Amino acid sequence: MPHIKLFSPGPIEVSEKTMRAFSRPMIGHRSKDFQALYADIHPKLQQVIYTQQPVFVSTSSAWGVMEGALRNLVSKKVLTCMSGAFSDKWFDVAKKNGKTAEPLQVDWGTAITAEMIEAKLSEGGYDAVTLIHNETSTGTLNPLKEIAAVVQKFPDVLLIVDCVSSFSAMKIPFDELGLDVMLAGTQKALALPAGAAVFTVSEKAYAKAATIKDRGYYFDFLEFRKNKENDMTPTTPSISHFYALQSKLEDIFAEGLEARYARHLENARITRQWAEKRGFELFPQKGYESITLTCCKNTKNVDLPKLNSLLKKKHSCVIDGGYGKIKGTSFRISTMGDESTENIVELLGWIDECLPEAGTVEPAK
Ligand SMILES: *Cc1c(COP(=O)(O)O)cnc(C)c1O
Repeated sequence: MPHIKLFSPGPIEVSEKTMRAFSRPMIGHRSKDFQALYADIHPKLQQVIYTQQPVFVSTSSAWGVMEGALRNLVSKKVLTCMSGAFSDKWFDVAKKNGKTAEPLQVDWGTAITAEMIEAKLSEGGYDAVTLIHNETSTGTLNPLKEIAAVVQKFPDVLLIVDCVSSFSAMKIPFDELGLDVMLAGTQKALALPAGAAVFTVSEKAYAKAATIKDRGYYFDFLEFRKNKENDMTPTTPSISHFYALQSKLEDIFAEGLEARYARHLENARITRQWAEKRGFELFPQKGYESITLTCCKNTKNVDLPKLNSLLKKKHSCVIDGGYGKIKGTSFRISTMGDESTENIVELLGWIDECLPEAGTVEPAK
């Protein structure tokens, strides 16, 4: 199979360096070598998350921890902020776990604001809020700082934040914001292979978890914390992901966090500008555009499958033709991970080259 470079937002392209680290020989997960590996990456993970709390690597995709957070922390009622495919699904997942969940639903592309959350929490009876920081399906970035400040006004409520597609691409200071759970899958902003998730938990959340009897085992936050005291994991982890993370953290600190944030912002700026110049409206509400991917309305009715097959054939890459109910009427360009500004300019040039040949389709009804 030829190597097709992924400019679709997840999984994204994984560098050769990362893949080499990922394919290193196995070591015993109860060995000193594993402890040394975890101990080596841990302070760097804490630095990326701006936390003093232990940071864990779960051998599951993001959804494992997203479900686990509900099982660890919700005994009364969870407010699920819903504004796209992933955040909408979190409501269903809460229900499937037998939790009482209250939707805070806005139109896809609209931001969730602190005021909306405050109004809901003021009704009382909640013990948690789920929020997707960067809704990957619509390219919308929610105002986390303001939301976190509002949730702080409700001392019994825990804030669970999915940062799958924003983690390490922008500053998200866990301790300072007073977040209670922050999680990220490895295959998006971190540019690692799929199959693991990184997460951290606040003291307040551990205290709540300790009161919950049926929080399960595989995602039990207290088990993770106990094992971390010896630089270990509750079960045999994906050791390959620890190696890949070690390599990625090396890259992140070689570039510098601030430079990494600036590069993501610049990639997003160039892509948005390109879209607007070509007459593609941005999908998200103005002022809430994602900095790791650009989601555009397919205002010119481009034949997106055709465009992607041209990109694949001519330039061995693909973008994304829209997710869930906005497939076909929107498209997404991922600029996260290792992409340089030059790479993005090159990609946008390839899209320009292929657009005329891709042609248009009848607008969707
Ligand atoms: C991709 C994604 C998920 C789901 O990740 P899985 O790896 O499929 O579990 C959750 N949240 C966001 C914001 C995502 O982008």
